[in-house]
Amino acid sequence: MSLTNTSTFWLKIEPDAFRQPLQHEAMRVISMDLDRHDFQLNELIERIKGHDHRLIALQIPEGLKMQALEMMDEIEDETSAKVILAADPCYGACDLVHDKMKSMGVELVAHMGHSQMNIDSGMPTQFIDVTYDGDPAIDPVLPILAQHRAIAQARLTEGDISELSEEEAKNRFLDAVGRVAPLKGTKLGLVASIQHLHLVFDYKERFEAAGYVVEVPVGGARLTFPGQVLGCNYSGDDDQIGHYLFLGSGDFHPIGLALHTGKPLAMLDPYTGDASEMGSERIERILRQRFGLIMAIQESQNFAILIGEKPGQMRRSLALKLKRTLEKHGKKGYLLALEHVGPELIDFYPVDAFVNTACPRIAIDDFVKYAKPLVTPFELEVALGEKKWETGYQFDEIP
Ligand code: SF4
Repeated sequence: MSLTNTSTFWLKIEPDAFRQPLQHEAMRVISMDLDRHDFQLNELIERIKGHDHRLIALQIPEGLKMQALEMMDEIEDETSAKVILAADPCYGACDLVHDKMKSMGVELVAHMGHSQMNIDSGMPTQFIDVTYDGDPAIDPVLPILAQHRAIAQARLTEGDISELSEEEAKNRFLDAVGRVAPLKGTKLGLVASIQHLHLVFDYKERFEAAGYVVEVPVGGARLTFPGQVLGCNYSGDDDQIGHYLFLGSGDFHPIGLALHTGKPLAMLDPYTGDASEMGSERIERILRQRFGLIMAIQESQNFAILIGEKPGQMRRSLALKLKRTLEKHGKKGYLLALEHVGPELIDFYPVDAFVNTACPRIAIDDFVKYAKPLVTPFELEVALGEKKWETGYQFDEIP
């Protein structure tokens, strides 16, 4: 699809119609039944006692912070350790506080609600996934899966779609995300967020009994477990998977999965038992917004390139590459390093637009907070003519 035909998309944007705060599932736990979550405090207490730690830290996602003081009391009552709460916002295992805690003399960090990534925590760290014991019936989601499998089967027989006319490309874009790689299978990909990952192999058997060929995708080094997805990484996807089921709550992970794969996606919520699907209209609306942002920066001259300081978000090489690309096009790119990215920290800089290399979801989920366009690296490259949207929208993934 040609960008020159998309200028009207910008006018159709409804910024707040679909937007949600950047929110991992662990942040939602507070409104759920806390008694049914396993915080694995006994294991943590045993480790603290075994090493005779005297100072430990808890790093907890926002949705669990209301429970923090209770957990600190329990640990201090049961051990000889004092507990420091790392009280800054925490959204993922990309965000580790080891340097600061080390300088305070902390001997162990307990990081809750996330699993370990392919980054060095730099000090003893216990990752606690905080599982939920919900076990929803699969019946409500079966009609949705049947429809999605039919879509995957139709795509499987679609043939070569690498030479599309502009109109065909447009139709395909509306159909999915413009991905041109043809499918080689129609398997059901079964994925979950960290709280529900312990369910996936049991649910694999249940869906197989219901007649589905099920794959639990194994992703790259950033993912710890089979079937795991992160807001910034869906690397387990492959061309044998024709459609997906996500076990989890909220649409933070589903939006990323649909943008990354362009495949039909059903959701089954272990907290409520509700089944739903990620509607193509929702994804289309997000893509129109992304198109609008690309259009908006095409004539921009001065950019600020954001570099995340959190260890699992820091993409310095990518930021430097973008700066060189901007220079090649006669434009200016200023490198800004930040621990937290927020409009109050950057909006005042006299630049035309921001390019975000920190958490990929900031540009997708939070862009309406910013007074100026906030785009992903791929979107900048499309605006500069370095990459083409026609080969499919490329979700910004951290490997
Ligand atoms: Fe979550 Fe990934 Fe963003 Fe970290 S970089 S907050 S893991 S989406």
